[in-house]
Amino acid sequence: MSNAALLRENGIQATAQRLAVLSAVGLHPHGTAELISECVTASLGAISRQSVYDTLGLLVERGLIRRIQPVGSPALYEDRVNDNHHHLICRRCAAVVDVDCAVGDTPCLTAADNMGFVIDEAEVAYWGLCPTCQTVSDEAAIAVPSFHHHPREEHPHATSKEQ
Ligand SMILES: [Zn+2]
Ligand SMILES: [Zn+2]
Ligand SMILES: [Zn+2]
Repeated sequence: MSNAALLRENGIQATAQRLAVLSAVGLHPHGTAELISECVTASLGAISRQSVYDTLGLLVERGLIRRIQPVGSPALYEDRVNDNHHHLICRRCAAVVDVDCAVGDTPCLTAADNMGFVIDEAEVAYWGLCPTCQTVSDEAAIAVPSFHHHPREEHPHATSKEQ
């Protein structure tokens, strides 16, 4: 289905900006709002960052994209939704990689006591070191808060589709 049809099917008018945001999220899995905004600006010209953020919020609310926010990270967006997949996150370079749930559909974790809640999602993140960072010597990479240290786009292994 085209992105335009996808938007319309979800009751959203398919404006050029919404289409650009949706395709930018598709091009940059786990991209930050800032990266998405730069990408949209590059394709459409000057767009206010706030309106890109508003569009991201709308698409999340309608379930067309998913927002994850690992501890210490800005919010990250992806268009892979409704499959309860999880994330491998590198502590050093902040690479985020998709991994299928070992169990299946959402939610894969059963709360010991749901306290009356109707649970629809269990957010799982596996933290560790990515293969690239495992080869970096320890003194070259003291444990710095990597989310703020390296722009993600400098890390070619930071997107899921290239693994
Ligand atoms: Zn890494
Ligand atoms: Zn993902
Ligand atoms: Zn799972």
